[in-house]
This record gives sequence, structure tokens and C-alpha cells, in this order.
Amino acid sequence: MATQYHINAERFSEHLLEIKLKFQAPQNQFSLWLPAWVPGSYLIREFSRFVEQVRLIGVDGEPVDQLLVKTSKNNWQVEAPKDSELTVVYQVYTRDLSVRGSYVDAERLYLNSPSICLCVQGLEEQKHEVLLSVPEAMSEFGFACALEHTKSDDQIHFSAPNYDTLIDSPFELADQQRFAFEVAGIPHRYVISGRNRANLERLKVDLQQLCGTFLHWLPDTNFSHYLFMTIATSSDYGGLEHQHSTSLITPAGDLPGASEPKLPSENYQRYLGLCSHEYFHAWWVKWVRPTAFRTPDLSTEAYTRMLWVFEGFTSYVDDLMLYRSGLIDAKSYLKLVEAQINRYLQTPGRELQNVTESSFDAWIKLYRSDENSINATASYYNVGALCALCLDLMLRESGHQLTDLIAEVVAESKQGADLTEARLDELFSERLGARWDQFKSAHIDGAQELPLEDLLAKSGVKVVADTEDLELGIRYTEESTGLMVNRVMRGSTAVHAGISAGDLLVAIDGYKASKTILKSSLTLDRVDIHFFRRDELKTTSLTPDQTQFKKLKLSVGSADDLSKWLSCSWSQQ
Ligand SMILES: [Zn+2]
Repeated sequence: MATQYHINAERFSEHLLEIKLKFQAPQNQFSLWLPAWVPGSYLIREFSRFVEQVRLIGVDGEPVDQLLVKTSKNNWQVEAPKDSELTVVYQVYTRDLSVRGSYVDAERLYLNSPSICLCVQGLEEQKHEVLLSVPEAMSEFGFACALEHTKSDDQIHFSAPNYDTLIDSPFELADQQRFAFEVAGIPHRYVISGRNRANLERLKVDLQQLCGTFLHWLPDTNFSHYLFMTIATSSDYGGLEHQHSTSLITPAGDLPGASEPKLPSENYQRYLGLCSHEYFHAWWVKWVRPTAFRTPDLSTEAYTRMLWVFEGFTSYVDDLMLYRSGLIDAKSYLKLVEAQINRYLQTPGRELQNVTESSFDAWIKLYRSDENSINATASYYNVGALCALCLDLMLRESGHQLTDLIAEVVAESKQGADLTEARLDELFSERLGARWDQFKSAHIDGAQELPLEDLLAKSGVKVVADTEDLELGIRYTEESTGLMVNRVMRGSTAVHAGISAGDLLVAIDGYKASKTILKSSLTLDRVDIHFFRRDELKTTSLTPDQTQFKKLKLSVGSADDLSKWLSCSWSQQ
């Protein structure tokens, strides 16, 4: 008997799902458990906090409470004769609009199974079936899921060969627009919901070209079909990778417009970059992975020091592939690289935390950023992408390419190997020799400044150094009541004057605090600043100045040298 989840979404307006779980008892005593995190997103999300009223139902249809006992935050212990057919009912509150949780209302049902499907301990490897009752209000909606499904007016049915596949296959029931294309014999589907005016014909052409370039580079895949699922909203942004699909959330303004120029707008480049990022993850994370992600315990953190390789290389490859697929030109590509570099240069925390530490602490730092993050942490996405850039440029000086190295790693994963730190060491050592050891100790195990200017200048890029100025060393938001301080740089004038994140500056030099007044105060010797901290009025005085960060401007220097970097060993389509 397969493990079955009957999902009823009739109470969509309360964001409630009623779930009936039917299965055969694997033992006389076993547990039901729910993941605490979803693969691909390294934060303990405690999905079980949304689970309500878990009840074991007896043969007479009544709950038998004494046989089901909650034993921890996400575990319920059940006692029942082995092989007996059991039913457990429960409710889940679903109002998480991100791609990592579940959501239901009158307009959309989007479910990520790790947040709603209790797992029966001991049955993980067996078939799991989902029967979704479609509320009448949703009977006209389209359905999307990477798993094959059947759909009638009032029910959708699909199954997964095991629990891991089930939780790697999110599904959506909504008013959708869609298109399909095939690349290298692999069917690709695209589904979008949410208010949008996207030019889907243009998107189809571009996406097909992008996927084609990936498949030209990495023809072996661990997916036989692929689904892009997008929800358009006003401003949310993010994505989550799965083996046969990706879930994306994007500002509708990032989608291509009716008269999208041939060179995509910066907004549209951002969306294409997101598609590129998540698509590459099908190889790089879903196939090539660190050992910690092979069979992780989803109740607790799965630590790895290699997220800089997995997310960082992906963040390098995503934009590079926009260029290699011909969707953007070299000038636009350099602009994306420039933005990545300037994010790095404006994060003082890069000097305190290296990329392996950033990877290891993803669970408590990157996914839980706060006002102190910029001072004390570095992002393994950002610094990892720039490490990949430096390594690619160094490899090219020795006649190699990072994309070839990646292809070799993918081939090894096809044989079942995980990517370990030791193997990574070998791969770079073979190609870069002592230069790799130096780079590793300075920039990976250490946190020394990356040699970006030097490497880029040798690769045909004109690099001009400039500065980014931050008045008083604070980042703030201008509000009608004054300037709300979001972050304060360590060692800045503001810190020494006793100003902290969370303070509301209300007056500068006797004038109502505004961006203009703050800027014009820079010429004064000394000013009084009035601010509220926890609703108490405070005063301080300081000599206004600026914290200066270095920033780089990149442009095409030598087109010949640049093409040596940006060309690839595998020919363009
Ligand atoms: Zn990613």
C-alpha cells in the first residue's frame, strides 16, 4: 500500500489545508515527522509550527488520542499493530508566499510537500501518492508539477516513487499561462501565475536559447523533462532548485515587456539571471553535491564548508551563461560583474569571515541577516562568485577554463561521486599548481582581498577605481518623520557619536533630518543631531564626514583579450 495524502483545500480563505494521511503501519511503534527545512534553502524553518490537530483515527472513525503522542517539535509517536491500515488527520496553516513554503487562498494553491506532508518513519522509500481535491472555485485553474499527474474537474492525482522525490516536487493550482519547448530532445515547460503582462513569446525564445546553451555545454542531465514555475508579484524575488523543476518568484516588472528591446532591460536581465541560476542548479547541487546533502537529516542543520562552491560558482555561471547564450553583450556582462564586485567592496564583513566560514554558518548568518551582517559577514554567493571569476581568469592564463572543470565534475557525479573538498583541491591543483595553494590559503581559508583588478586588467577589461561615499557611515531610509538608520559601519563617525541601527534621526543642525540636509551638513565643522531611540529623544554632536568604500568601474579594454576570457572551449550553437 502506498502512503497517501488526501489534501482538501476547501478552507482556502482561511489558508487551511485538511490532510488525511493513509498508510500501513511499518512497525508496532514508529514516528511521523515533518522536515524542519527544505533542501536548497539553508535555514531551519520549523514547518511543524503550522501543523494543527494531528489525530490518529480508529476503526470506528473516532480519534484514538492515547496511541499518538507528540514527542518533539516535529515528531509524533504512534503505537499500532504492524501492517494495520492507519489514517491520521491533521490541518496545516499555509500562508508562506515564498518559494520555500506553502500557500493557499482563493487565487492560488502552491504547495511544497516538506512543509505539509508528514513522513512515516520506515516508509520513506515507498511510493507516495497525492490526491488533491480541487475546490469548486478553482476548477478552471491550471495545474503544474514536475511529476506526471491526472486531473479531473474535482481531483488531481499524482505519485512519487519515494518521500524525497515527493518533497522535491512542488505543485501549483492557479490561473496560469504557459508554453512549452524542446531542447536537445528534452521537453521543457514554463508556467506563470500572478498578475503580469509578460511578453511570453519573447521569453520563450530567450529561455529556449539559454537552456540550449546549457545543454550544449553539459549534455548529460539527471532530468528527462524540466518545468519552470514562476509567480509574478509586485516586488518579491527568489528561486528554489529541484531536480526536474524550479520555483521562481519575481517582480512582474522584471518580465519582458511587449516592446522589450533586443538587449534585455536590466530588470529582464535579472529575471533571466534567476532562471539561469536555478537551471544550472539541476546539475550543480541537485546532481553534483557535497556529501552533507546526499541524504541529509531534514530535522537538523546539514553543515558544509562548500556552499561557496555550490552557490558561488552558480552565481558566476548564471550571468556568464546569459552572455554565452547571446542574450546579453559583453558590455552588459561586465556591468553585472561590476555590480557583483562593488557589493563585495562595500561589505566590510568580508575581512572577518571567509567563504568557508560563511558557508558553514549559512544557517545562522546568511539566512538570518540583520543590521550587523554587513560588518561581520560575507555572502558565499557574492564572494563565491568572485572566487569563481578569479579562478576562471587564472585557469585561462594556463590554457584551461572553469566551465571545463565543472563539466569534469559533472561527469564524475554521473558515476555517483560527491564533490569533496579534497577532490576540489586536486582539480585546481592539477591545473594551477602552487598558484592554487596560494589562492586557497589567502582567499578561501583566509579572507584577504581578492586580486580582481589585476586579473581583470590582464583579461582585456579596463578597470577604473572610484569611491562610494556613505554620509556618517550609515545606511538609512528617508521617511516622512526623518532618517531611519538601518545599518551603521563599525568605526564610523556615527558609531563614535553614539548613533545605532534602529535610531530615527529627526533633526540635523536644527533642521528636520532629510537626505538633502544630511548631505549639505558635510561642509560644517560640527552639528547637533537629535534622534529617537526607543521613543526617547536623544542628542549628540559630531563633525560630519563620509565613510568611503572603493568601487570599480569596468569597461571593455582589449576586445581580443576579453574574448579569450569570454570564449568557451565548447563551440556556440
Ligand atoms: Zn542558488
